[in-house]
Amino acid sequence: MKIAVVGAGVVGIATAYELATDGHTVTVFDKSAAACEEASFANSGLVAPSMFLPYALPSAKGSAVLRFLDTGRRLTLSPWRSLQQMKSLRRWTHAYKPETHAKQLGIARQLGRYSAERLAHVLDYNQMEVERSEGQLVLVRTEQELQRFQTDLEALKNLEIACKVLSPDEARKLEPALHSAAPFHAALHLSADQVVNCRQFALELKAITQKMGVNYQFGADLQDLGQQSHPTLTLLNTQGAETFTADHVVLCTSQVPRPLLATQHLHIPLVELHGYALSVAVREPLNAPRSAVHVLHDNLVINRLGNRIRVSAGAELGPKPQVKHEQVVNAMYRALELYFPGAANYPAGTQVWHGTRHATTDGLPAVGPSGVPSVWLNIGHGACGWTWACGSARLLADQIAGRPTTLTLTSMSPDRLSR
Ligand SMILES: Cc1cc2nc3c(=O)[nH]c(=O)nc-3n(C[C@H](O)[C@H](O)[C@H](O)COP(=O)(O)OP(=O)(O)OC[C@H]3O[C@@H](n4cnc5c(N)ncnc54)[C@H](O)[C@@H]3O)c2cc1C
Repeated sequence: MKIAVVGAGVVGIATAYELATDGHTVTVFDKSAAACEEASFANSGLVAPSMFLPYALPSAKGSAVLRFLDTGRRLTLSPWRSLQQMKSLRRWTHAYKPETHAKQLGIARQLGRYSAERLAHVLDYNQMEVERSEGQLVLVRTEQELQRFQTDLEALKNLEIACKVLSPDEARKLEPALHSAAPFHAALHLSADQVVNCRQFALELKAITQKMGVNYQFGADLQDLGQQSHPTLTLLNTQGAETFTADHVVLCTSQVPRPLLATQHLHIPLVELHGYALSVAVREPLNAPRSAVHVLHDNLVINRLGNRIRVSAGAELGPKPQVKHEQVVNAMYRALELYFPGAANYPAGTQVWHGTRHATTDGLPAVGPSGVPSVWLNIGHGACGWTWACGSARLLADQIAGRPTTLTLTSMSPDRLSR
Protein backbone atom coordinates (compact mmCIF):
# COMPACT_ATOMS: atom_id res chain seq x y z
CA MET A 1 0.00 0.00 0.00
CA LYS A 2 1.00 3.62 -0.47
CA ILE A 3 1.45 5.22 2.95
CA ALA A 4 2.23 8.83 3.89
CA VAL A 5 3.94 9.38 7.23
CA VAL A 6 3.88 12.98 8.47
CA GLY A 7 6.72 13.85 10.87
CA ALA A 8 10.38 12.88 10.63
CA GLY A 9 11.24 12.78 14.31
CA VAL A 10 12.31 9.49 15.88
CA VAL A 11 8.71 8.22 15.98
CA GLY A 12 8.05 9.01 12.30
CA ILE A 13 11.32 7.49 11.11
CA ALA A 14 10.80 4.34 13.21
CA THR A 15 7.25 4.10 11.81
CA ALA A 16 8.51 4.53 8.24
CA TYR A 17 11.04 1.76 8.91
CA GLU A 18 8.42 -0.70 10.17
CA LEU A 19 6.02 0.11 7.31
CA ALA A 20 8.77 -0.29 4.71
CA THR A 21 9.77 -3.58 6.37
CA ASP A 22 6.18 -4.73 5.80
CA GLY A 23 6.57 -3.96 2.09
CA HIS A 24 4.62 -0.69 1.87
CA THR A 25 5.58 2.24 -0.35
CA VAL A 26 6.31 5.00 2.14
CA THR A 27 6.74 8.78 1.77
CA VAL A 28 7.65 10.85 4.83
CA PHE A 29 6.80 14.58 4.97
CA ASP A 30 8.14 17.08 7.47
CA LYS A 31 7.76 20.83 7.74
CA SER A 32 11.34 21.26 8.99
CA ALA A 33 14.37 21.45 6.71
CA ALA A 34 15.80 18.18 8.07
CA ALA A 35 14.94 15.18 10.25
CA CYS A 36 14.86 15.36 14.07
CA GLU A 37 14.78 19.12 14.37
CA GLU A 38 12.21 19.14 17.18
CA ALA A 39 11.74 16.93 20.27
CA SER A 40 14.08 14.23 18.95
CA PHE A 41 16.97 16.67 18.57
CA ALA A 42 18.84 16.51 21.88
CA ASN A 43 16.85 14.57 24.46
CA SER A 44 18.57 12.75 27.31
CA GLY A 45 18.76 9.55 25.31
CA LEU A 46 17.32 7.41 28.10
CA VAL A 47 15.62 4.26 26.92
CA ALA A 48 14.04 3.45 30.25
CA PRO A 49 11.50 0.62 30.52
CA SER A 50 11.64 1.32 34.29
CA MET A 51 9.83 4.62 33.53
CA PHE A 52 12.27 6.46 35.78
CA LEU A 53 12.15 9.40 33.38
CA PRO A 54 11.45 12.97 34.55
CA TYR A 55 7.74 13.82 34.04
CA ALA A 56 7.00 10.36 32.57
CA LEU A 57 3.39 10.14 33.78
CA PRO A 58 1.00 12.53 35.53
CA SER A 59 1.61 12.27 39.24
CA ALA A 60 -0.41 12.84 42.39
CA LYS A 61 -2.06 16.23 42.29
CA GLY A 62 -0.45 17.58 45.44
CA SER A 63 3.00 16.23 44.81
CA ALA A 64 2.93 17.32 41.16
CA VAL A 65 2.08 20.88 42.13
CA LEU A 66 4.80 20.84 44.75
CA ARG A 67 7.21 19.33 42.29
CA PHE A 68 6.52 22.03 39.73
CA LEU A 69 6.81 24.74 42.35
CA ASP A 70 9.94 23.16 43.69
CA THR A 71 11.38 22.90 40.19
CA GLY A 72 10.17 26.44 39.62
CA ARG A 73 12.06 27.77 42.60
CA ARG A 74 15.33 26.22 41.67
CA LEU A 75 15.20 25.46 37.99
CA THR A 76 12.63 27.46 36.09
CA LEU A 77 10.80 30.72 36.12
CA SER A 78 7.60 30.66 38.09
CA PRO A 79 5.36 28.21 36.22
CA TRP A 80 2.36 30.48 36.88
CA ARG A 81 3.10 32.85 34.05
CA SER A 82 -0.20 32.59 32.31
CA LEU A 83 -3.65 31.18 32.47
CA GLN A 84 -2.63 28.60 29.86
CA GLN A 85 0.05 27.33 32.19
CA MET A 86 -2.50 26.99 34.97
CA LYS A 87 -4.78 25.08 32.61
CA SER A 88 -1.93 22.79 31.55
CA LEU A 89 -0.99 22.08 35.12
CA ARG A 90 -4.61 21.35 35.99
CA ARG A 91 -4.96 18.97 33.02
CA TRP A 92 -1.77 17.18 33.96
CA THR A 93 -2.48 16.83 37.65
CA HIS A 94 -6.20 16.08 37.25
CA ALA A 95 -5.29 13.16 35.03
CA TYR A 96 -3.72 11.47 38.03
CA LYS A 97 -6.07 8.92 39.48
CA PRO A 98 -4.65 6.75 42.26
CA GLU A 99 -6.85 3.82 41.24
CA THR A 100 -5.54 3.78 37.66
CA HIS A 101 -2.01 5.13 38.12
CA ALA A 102 -0.42 1.76 38.93
CA LYS A 103 -2.17 0.18 35.93
CA GLN A 104 -1.00 2.95 33.59
CA LEU A 105 2.53 2.70 34.92
CA GLY A 106 2.41 -1.05 34.26
CA ILE A 107 1.28 -0.45 30.65
CA ALA A 108 3.93 2.25 30.19
CA ARG A 109 6.58 -0.20 31.39
CA GLN A 110 5.33 -3.03 29.17
CA LEU A 111 5.48 -0.70 26.18
CA GLY A 112 8.95 0.40 27.32
CA ARG A 113 10.18 -3.16 27.54
CA TYR A 114 8.66 -4.17 24.21
CA SER A 115 10.11 -1.07 22.61
CA ALA A 116 13.59 -1.77 24.02
CA GLU A 117 13.39 -5.26 22.49
CA ARG A 118 12.38 -3.76 19.14
CA LEU A 119 15.20 -1.21 19.37
CA ALA A 120 17.71 -3.99 20.10
CA HIS A 121 16.39 -5.91 17.10
CA VAL A 122 16.62 -2.89 14.76
CA LEU A 123 20.17 -2.08 15.95
CA ASP A 124 21.30 -5.65 15.61
CA TYR A 125 19.56 -6.51 12.33
CA ASN A 126 20.93 -3.41 10.62
CA GLN A 127 24.31 -3.59 12.38
CA MET A 128 23.99 0.01 13.48
CA GLU A 129 26.80 1.73 15.38
CA VAL A 130 25.24 4.24 17.76
CA GLU A 131 26.57 5.89 20.93
CA ARG A 132 25.16 3.95 23.85
CA SER A 133 25.78 2.84 27.42
CA GLU A 134 24.07 0.50 29.86
CA GLY A 135 22.18 1.28 33.06
CA GLN A 136 20.60 4.16 34.94
CA LEU A 137 21.47 5.17 38.50
CA VAL A 138 18.67 7.07 40.26
CA LEU A 139 19.98 9.10 43.20
CA VAL A 140 17.61 9.26 46.16
CA ARG A 141 18.25 11.96 48.74
CA THR A 142 16.65 10.61 51.95
CA GLU A 143 15.52 7.37 53.59
CA GLN A 144 11.89 8.64 53.51
CA GLU A 145 12.13 9.18 49.76
CA LEU A 146 13.50 5.66 49.37
CA GLN A 147 10.68 4.22 51.47
CA ARG A 148 8.12 5.88 49.18
CA PHE A 149 9.41 3.68 46.36
CA GLN A 150 8.81 0.34 48.09
CA THR A 151 5.53 -0.42 46.26
CA ASP A 152 7.02 0.72 42.99
CA LEU A 153 10.08 -1.48 43.46
CA GLU A 154 7.74 -4.43 44.03
CA ALA A 155 5.92 -3.55 40.78
CA LEU A 156 9.24 -3.49 38.91
CA LYS A 157 10.11 -6.89 40.38
CA ASN A 158 6.74 -8.31 39.26
CA LEU A 159 7.44 -7.12 35.73
CA GLU A 160 10.96 -8.58 35.95
CA ILE A 161 12.55 -5.18 35.40
CA ALA A 162 15.81 -5.35 37.35
CA CYS A 163 16.23 -2.80 40.14
CA LYS A 164 18.72 -2.86 43.01
CA VAL A 165 18.99 -0.47 45.94
CA LEU A 166 22.63 0.55 46.38
CA SER A 167 24.53 2.42 49.08
CA PRO A 168 26.56 5.46 47.94
CA ASP A 169 29.76 3.34 47.99
CA GLU A 170 28.13 0.65 45.84
CA ALA A 171 26.79 3.32 43.48
CA ARG A 172 30.30 4.77 43.06
CA LYS A 173 31.56 1.38 41.94
CA LEU A 174 29.26 1.78 38.92
CA GLU A 175 29.89 5.50 38.51
CA PRO A 176 33.38 6.02 39.95
CA ALA A 177 33.50 9.70 38.98
CA LEU A 178 30.42 10.58 41.07
CA HIS A 179 31.83 13.25 43.40
CA SER A 180 32.26 12.44 47.09
CA ALA A 181 30.26 15.59 47.97
CA ALA A 182 27.28 14.57 45.77
CA PRO A 183 24.23 14.72 48.08
CA PHE A 184 22.47 11.34 48.06
CA HIS A 185 21.46 8.72 50.58
CA ALA A 186 20.99 5.71 48.26
CA ALA A 187 20.71 4.89 44.59
CA LEU A 188 18.43 2.68 42.52
CA HIS A 189 20.34 0.80 39.88
CA LEU A 190 18.18 0.04 36.84
CA SER A 191 20.35 -2.22 34.74
CA ALA A 192 17.77 -2.74 31.95
CA ASP A 193 17.67 0.99 31.23
CA GLN A 194 20.20 2.39 28.80
CA VAL A 195 21.37 5.55 27.11
CA VAL A 196 21.26 5.54 23.31
CA ASN A 197 21.82 8.63 21.18
CA CYS A 198 18.30 9.22 19.83
CA ARG A 199 19.12 11.63 17.01
CA GLN A 200 22.08 9.58 15.83
CA PHE A 201 19.90 6.45 15.76
CA ALA A 202 17.09 8.22 13.91
CA LEU A 203 19.38 9.73 11.28
CA GLU A 204 21.07 6.38 10.66
CA LEU A 205 17.70 4.67 10.46
CA LYS A 206 16.54 7.32 8.00
CA ALA A 207 19.48 6.46 5.74
CA ILE A 208 18.58 2.76 6.04
CA THR A 209 14.94 3.43 5.14
CA GLN A 210 16.03 5.48 2.12
CA LYS A 211 17.92 2.43 0.89
CA MET A 212 14.67 0.48 1.40
CA GLY A 213 12.93 2.96 -0.91
CA VAL A 214 11.37 5.40 1.57
CA ASN A 215 11.13 8.90 0.12
CA TYR A 216 11.58 11.95 2.40
CA GLN A 217 10.23 15.41 1.60
CA PHE A 218 11.28 18.26 3.88
CA GLY A 219 9.90 21.77 4.06
CA ALA A 220 6.43 20.25 3.54
CA ASP A 221 3.96 21.57 6.09
CA LEU A 222 0.72 19.58 6.38
CA GLN A 223 -2.19 22.03 6.13
CA ASP A 224 -5.18 19.87 5.42
CA LEU A 225 -6.37 16.30 5.03
CA GLY A 226 -9.13 15.77 2.50
CA GLN A 227 -11.30 12.68 2.34
CA GLN A 228 -12.16 11.77 -1.23
CA SER A 229 -11.96 8.05 -2.06
CA HIS A 230 -8.52 8.13 -0.34
CA PRO A 231 -7.02 10.52 2.20
CA THR A 232 -5.42 13.48 0.41
CA LEU A 233 -2.78 15.61 2.09
CA THR A 234 -2.40 19.31 1.30
CA LEU A 235 1.20 20.30 1.98
CA LEU A 236 2.63 23.79 1.86
CA ASN A 237 6.20 24.09 0.58
CA THR A 238 8.34 26.77 -1.05
CA GLN A 239 6.57 26.16 -4.38
CA GLY A 240 3.12 26.66 -2.87
CA ALA A 241 0.48 24.07 -1.96
CA GLU A 242 0.76 20.50 -3.26
CA THR A 243 -1.49 17.50 -2.76
CA PHE A 244 -0.56 13.90 -2.16
CA THR A 245 -2.96 10.96 -2.12
CA ALA A 246 -2.25 7.77 -0.20
CA ASP A 247 -4.02 4.63 0.96
CA HIS A 248 -3.17 5.47 4.57
CA VAL A 249 -1.77 8.46 6.43
CA VAL A 250 0.10 8.18 9.74
CA LEU A 251 0.53 11.35 11.78
CA CYS A 252 3.79 11.22 13.75
CA THR A 253 3.75 14.95 14.39
CA SER A 254 4.01 14.70 18.19
CA GLN A 255 0.73 16.66 18.43
CA VAL A 256 -2.15 17.02 15.96
CA PRO A 257 -1.18 19.82 13.52
CA ARG A 258 -3.24 22.92 14.31
CA PRO A 259 -5.10 23.18 10.93
CA LEU A 260 -6.44 19.64 11.37
CA LEU A 261 -7.90 20.37 14.78
CA ALA A 262 -10.71 22.35 13.20
CA THR A 263 -11.21 20.46 9.94
CA GLN A 264 -10.88 16.88 11.16
CA HIS A 265 -12.07 17.22 14.78
CA LEU A 266 -8.97 15.37 15.94
CA HIS A 267 -9.04 16.77 19.44
CA ILE A 268 -6.42 14.92 21.45
CA PRO A 269 -5.84 16.86 24.68
CA LEU A 270 -2.12 17.35 25.19
CA VAL A 271 0.06 19.09 27.73
CA GLU A 272 3.28 20.79 26.63
CA LEU A 273 6.24 20.43 28.96
CA HIS A 274 9.29 22.33 27.75
CA GLY A 275 12.71 21.29 28.96
CA TYR A 276 16.40 21.95 28.47
CA ALA A 277 19.44 19.89 27.56
CA LEU A 278 23.01 21.06 27.95
CA SER A 279 25.61 19.14 25.92
CA VAL A 280 29.33 19.62 26.56
CA ALA A 281 32.50 17.93 25.41
CA VAL A 282 34.24 15.57 27.86
CA ARG A 283 37.55 16.93 29.15
CA GLU A 284 38.61 13.97 31.25
CA PRO A 285 36.77 10.65 30.69
CA LEU A 286 37.81 9.47 34.16
CA ASN A 287 35.80 12.34 35.67
CA ALA A 288 32.73 11.83 33.49
CA PRO A 289 29.63 9.64 33.98
CA ARG A 290 29.73 6.20 32.38
CA SER A 291 25.98 6.05 31.74
CA ALA A 292 22.94 7.88 33.18
CA VAL A 293 22.74 9.47 36.62
CA HIS A 294 19.26 10.73 37.46
CA VAL A 295 18.97 13.20 40.33
CA LEU A 296 15.43 12.45 41.43
CA HIS A 297 15.14 15.45 43.74
CA ASP A 298 15.77 17.90 40.87
CA ASN A 299 14.21 15.89 37.99
CA LEU A 300 17.61 16.23 36.35
CA VAL A 301 19.55 13.64 34.33
CA ILE A 302 23.30 13.70 33.66
CA ASN A 303 24.49 11.18 31.12
CA ARG A 304 27.27 10.24 28.79
CA LEU A 305 26.84 10.24 25.01
CA GLY A 306 30.11 9.19 23.38
CA ASN A 307 32.61 11.95 24.06
CA ARG A 308 29.96 14.36 25.32
CA ILE A 309 28.03 14.77 28.55
CA ARG A 310 24.39 15.77 28.47
CA VAL A 311 22.47 17.35 31.35
CA SER A 312 18.71 17.67 30.98
CA ALA A 313 16.28 19.40 33.29
CA GLY A 314 13.30 21.69 33.56
CA ALA A 315 9.58 21.57 32.91
CA GLU A 316 7.93 24.77 31.78
CA LEU A 317 4.22 24.67 31.09
CA GLY A 318 2.06 26.40 28.52
CA PRO A 319 3.35 28.24 25.43
CA LYS A 320 7.08 27.83 24.81
CA PRO A 321 9.01 30.82 26.17
CA GLN A 322 10.94 32.68 23.45
CA VAL A 323 14.10 32.86 25.51
CA LYS A 324 16.02 30.16 27.30
CA HIS A 325 15.77 30.70 30.98
CA GLU A 326 19.12 31.59 32.45
CA GLN A 327 18.29 30.19 35.87
CA VAL A 328 17.61 26.73 34.46
CA VAL A 329 20.72 26.74 32.33
CA ASN A 330 22.88 27.88 35.26
CA ALA A 331 21.35 25.19 37.46
CA MET A 332 22.39 22.56 34.89
CA TYR A 333 25.99 23.83 34.84
CA ARG A 334 26.02 23.84 38.67
CA ALA A 335 24.65 20.28 38.83
CA LEU A 336 27.31 19.05 36.42
CA GLU A 337 30.05 20.60 38.55
CA LEU A 338 28.49 19.24 41.75
CA TYR A 339 28.11 15.63 40.59
CA PHE A 340 30.97 15.32 38.08
CA PRO A 341 33.45 18.15 38.73
CA GLY A 342 36.19 18.55 36.15
CA ALA A 343 34.46 16.30 33.61
CA ALA A 344 33.51 18.97 31.07
CA ASN A 345 35.53 20.90 28.57
CA TYR A 346 33.26 23.92 28.10
CA PRO A 347 35.39 25.82 25.55
CA ALA A 348 35.57 22.73 23.31
CA GLY A 349 31.86 22.83 22.57
CA THR A 350 28.73 23.63 24.56
CA GLN A 351 25.16 23.52 23.28
CA VAL A 352 21.97 24.43 25.12
CA TRP A 353 18.77 23.06 23.62
CA HIS A 354 15.19 23.96 24.53
CA GLY A 355 12.73 21.21 23.51
CA THR A 356 9.08 20.33 24.02
CA ARG A 357 7.44 17.14 25.23
CA HIS A 358 3.82 16.78 24.03
CA ALA A 359 2.17 14.51 26.57
CA THR A 360 -1.36 13.15 26.63
CA THR A 361 -3.19 13.82 29.85
CA ASP A 362 -2.84 10.21 31.02
CA GLY A 363 0.80 9.97 29.95
CA LEU A 364 0.36 7.08 27.48
CA PRO A 365 0.78 7.75 23.76
CA ALA A 366 -2.03 7.80 21.19
CA VAL A 367 -1.26 4.89 18.83
CA GLY A 368 -3.93 3.67 16.44
CA PRO A 369 -6.86 4.74 14.25
CA SER A 370 -7.71 8.43 14.52
CA GLY A 371 -11.42 8.08 13.87
CA VAL A 372 -10.97 9.60 10.40
CA PRO A 373 -10.94 6.77 7.81
CA SER A 374 -7.42 5.56 6.90
CA VAL A 375 -5.79 8.20 9.11
CA TRP A 376 -3.68 6.84 11.98
CA LEU A 377 -2.02 8.50 14.94
CA ASN A 378 1.32 7.79 16.61
CA ILE A 379 1.62 10.92 18.77
CA GLY A 380 1.69 12.25 22.33
CA HIS A 381 4.70 10.30 23.60
CA GLY A 382 5.58 13.09 26.03
CA ALA A 383 8.66 12.47 28.13
CA CYS A 384 9.05 8.86 26.95
CA GLY A 385 9.04 9.19 23.16
CA TRP A 386 12.48 7.78 22.62
CA THR A 387 11.83 4.90 25.03
CA TRP A 388 8.59 4.05 23.21
CA ALA A 389 9.45 4.95 19.59
CA CYS A 390 10.41 1.55 18.17
CA GLY A 391 7.63 -0.31 20.00
CA SER A 392 4.82 2.06 19.09
CA ALA A 393 6.04 2.08 15.46
CA ARG A 394 5.76 -1.72 15.28
CA LEU A 395 2.35 -1.71 17.00
CA LEU A 396 1.07 0.86 14.52
CA ALA A 397 2.39 -1.09 11.51
CA ASP A 398 0.75 -4.27 12.82
CA GLN A 399 -2.58 -2.47 13.15
CA ILE A 400 -2.41 -1.18 9.58
CA ALA A 401 -1.60 -4.70 8.40
CA GLY A 402 -4.59 -6.02 10.40
CA ARG A 403 -2.27 -8.33 12.35
CA PRO A 404 -2.66 -9.15 16.03
CA THR A 405 -0.44 -6.83 18.09
CA THR A 406 2.03 -8.00 20.73
CA LEU A 407 0.52 -5.68 23.37
CA THR A 408 -3.15 -4.92 24.04
CA LEU A 409 -3.83 -1.49 22.64
CA THR A 410 -6.97 -0.32 24.43
CA SER A 411 -5.02 1.94 26.81
CA MET A 412 -3.13 3.54 23.91
CA SER A 413 -6.06 3.89 21.55
CA PRO A 414 -6.63 7.54 20.49
CA ASP A 415 -10.39 7.23 21.05
CA ARG A 416 -9.86 7.08 24.82
CA LEU A 417 -8.84 10.76 24.56
CA SER A 418 -10.84 12.22 21.71
CA ARG A 419 -13.88 14.33 22.52
C1 LIG B 1 14.52 17.91 27.60
C2 LIG B 1 13.93 16.62 27.09
C3 LIG B 1 14.51 15.41 27.45
C4 LIG B 1 13.95 14.21 27.00
N1 LIG B 1 14.54 13.03 27.37
C5 LIG B 1 13.99 11.85 26.98
C6 LIG B 1 14.58 10.61 27.36
O1 LIG B 1 15.62 10.58 28.01
N2 LIG B 1 13.96 9.45 26.98
C7 LIG B 1 12.80 9.45 26.26
O2 LIG B 1 12.27 8.38 26.02
N3 LIG B 1 12.25 10.61 25.84
C8 LIG B 1 12.81 11.81 26.19
N4 LIG B 1 12.24 12.98 25.78
C9 LIG B 1 11.02 12.93 24.98
C10 LIG B 1 11.35 12.63 23.51
O3 LIG B 1 12.39 13.50 23.08
C11 LIG B 1 10.12 12.85 22.64
O4 LIG B 1 9.01 12.18 23.20
C12 LIG B 1 10.33 12.29 21.24
O5 LIG B 1 11.47 12.85 20.65
C13 LIG B 1 9.10 12.56 20.38
O6 LIG B 1 9.40 12.13 19.07
P1 LIG B 1 8.41 12.46 17.89
O7 LIG B 1 9.02 11.93 16.66
O8 LIG B 1 7.04 12.07 18.28
O9 LIG B 1 8.36 14.06 17.86
P2 LIG B 1 9.34 15.10 17.12
O10 LIG B 1 10.75 14.69 17.24
O11 LIG B 1 8.95 16.44 17.65
O12 LIG B 1 8.93 14.98 15.62
C14 LIG B 1 7.71 15.47 15.12
C15 LIG B 1 7.98 15.97 13.71
O13 LIG B 1 6.73 16.34 13.12
C16 LIG B 1 6.95 17.45 12.31
N5 LIG B 1 5.68 18.16 12.12
C17 LIG B 1 4.87 18.68 13.07
N6 LIG B 1 3.80 19.27 12.50
C18 LIG B 1 3.93 19.09 11.17
C19 LIG B 1 3.15 19.48 10.05
N7 LIG B 1 2.01 20.20 10.18
N8 LIG B 1 3.57 19.15 8.81
C20 LIG B 1 4.72 18.45 8.63
N9 LIG B 1 5.51 18.07 9.67
C21 LIG B 1 5.11 18.39 10.91
C22 LIG B 1 7.97 18.29 13.10
O14 LIG B 1 8.68 19.18 12.25
C23 LIG B 1 8.86 17.20 13.69
O15 LIG B 1 9.99 16.94 12.90
C24 LIG B 1 12.79 14.21 26.18
C25 LIG B 1 12.24 15.43 25.78
C26 LIG B 1 12.79 16.63 26.21
C27 LIG B 1 12.19 17.92 25.77
